[in-house]
Amino acid sequence: MDKLDVLIIGGGISGLASAWWLARSGLSVEVWEANKRPGGKIMSTSQDGYLTERAASMVLNFRPEVAELVRGAGLESSKTARLPAAEARRYLLHQGSLKALPMRLGAMVASPLWSLRGKLRLLAEPFIFSSGRADEPVSEFITRRLGHEILEKAMEPFIAGTLAADAEQTSAAAVMPRLAELERRYGSIGAGILVNRVLCRRTACTTETFSFRGGMSALVEVLSKSPGVNMRTGHSAEELVREGDGWQIAAVTPRGQRTVSAHHVIVATPAPAAAALVASSDKYLAELLRGIGYARLAVVHTGLARDSVGHPLDGTGFLAPKGESAILTGNMWMSTLFPDRAPPGKILLTSYLGGARAPQVADWDDSHLADEVLATLRPLIGLKTDPEMVRIDRHHEALPLYHGAYQARMQAIAARLQHIPGLHLEANYRGGVSVRDRLVCGHAVANHILGTRRWESVERKRSEKTGMSGENAVYPIDSISHALE
Ligand SMILES: Cc1cc2nc3c(=O)[nH]c(=O)nc-3n(C[C@H](O)[C@H](O)[C@H](O)COP(=O)(O)OP(=O)(O)OC[C@H]3O[C@@H](n4cnc5c(N)ncnc54)[C@H](O)[C@@H]3O)c2cc1C
Repeated sequence: MDKLDVLIIGGGISGLASAWWLARSGLSVEVWEANKRPGGKIMSTSQDGYLTERAASMVLNFRPEVAELVRGAGLESSKTARLPAAEARRYLLHQGSLKALPMRLGAMVASPLWSLRGKLRLLAEPFIFSSGRADEPVSEFITRRLGHEILEKAMEPFIAGTLAADAEQTSAAAVMPRLAELERRYGSIGAGILVNRVLCRRTACTTETFSFRGGMSALVEVLSKSPGVNMRTGHSAEELVREGDGWQIAAVTPRGQRTVSAHHVIVATPAPAAAALVASSDKYLAELLRGIGYARLAVVHTGLARDSVGHPLDGTGFLAPKGESAILTGNMWMSTLFPDRAPPGKILLTSYLGGARAPQVADWDDSHLADEVLATLRPLIGLKTDPEMVRIDRHHEALPLYHGAYQARMQAIAARLQHIPGLHLEANYRGGVSVRDRLVCGHAVANHILGTRRWESVERKRSEKTGMSGENAVYPIDSISHALE
């Protein structure tokens, strides 16, 4: 039976990122992916000269770990930059037409999107007290701090459009940790932003948004073929059993059953699959995982001749607030963002439907979905003809919903894991759904494992000397690094 340092179950970006960081440190790593190809939700497809993305279409990065991985994996020269931020207008569907969202304070004050009352309400923000609630919903957090209009016209469409979630149920601290942190540290979002602006200038924080030539699949392909990352597709993990100081894991593969043992197992699957795998080790942990809900989504890509659309399409696309009763949550102008997404003289528009706002819509049949998308787009962007390309992607478990007592659930999961040495849960229901967050969390779990292994070898030497075993002791990462210093 093969003996590995780390087995990773799930070959989406979470699993692949963890594998890349671990393999780079010289550990023996295998990644098991149930499907025939790595990448999980991420998949770029070329169709009739258009390049569509099934899930993530870009990385918005401000973290050094991400830059390091992109460079280290040899992907720097494959990066394609998004339309510069200054040219990237964001539109909002407002009273039946598209209005550019003001991105600067001056433009916001002058914007007709907000009433005078709404603007005056913003001025009160520094004087609002914290609620002190751990899992305050986005709707309450934003209304309390910034007023109802900001919720209605900015945050609700943002939460529905980018996370497929419901602002009334989503934990603010979980999905907008930076805003929640500003309130906690400075007592005000506005004051915190001012302070951070000054600090950011000093530390030269940079934010960039990019994809890759050939789309986001380039990232998962390169990671899955990186030295030391042993990718095994068609391996569906079925059983996870604690054995000695490690784990024995069985999979169904095209060649029959395969069993390996590993010191550490990273379960990088969606929560329901993770629940099934951990149930025999910890029923309560499985229960916590089963309680995480997912949004269903349909993604409709339409390819059109540029001259069939009257709108200049001079931005990233638009979001649709709940109150507008549009069938879409958002529409992205992919070929404006990345010109290589459509052939010359053509455009690619991608619409998102379903999510927590209207889950049943994601189940409509293809022609119903396409008809509704076109009926919505026609008056908004002056669409005159039918598309020459339509492609529809569907996700049954598109995105985990950070709904309800999310922070409390995550704390309970972390507490259970403290008692199961060598088991790690690493997927987009923990620590953020974005590709950036997945790469950063992969780095963190790899560091955790490396720290644990160093501590284990110190402990092994100690027990060899003293004859005392520390097998079942669990040390948090902070104590490990302190112990090593
Ligand atoms: C429509 C859409 C648009 C998005 N747009 C963006 C964007 O523009 N930018 C951005 O940063 N993020 C975006 N995201 C989010 C991002 O794409 C996802 O959060 C991320 O790709 C999820 O990666 P993951 O590895 O955690 O999960 P997954 O991609 O779901 O991977 C999990 C893998 O585990 C495998 N698996 C499950 N069970 C088993 C088993 N028993 N044995 C072996 N393998 C198993 C699955 O087959 C799957 O491949 C978007 C998401 C969606 C749905």
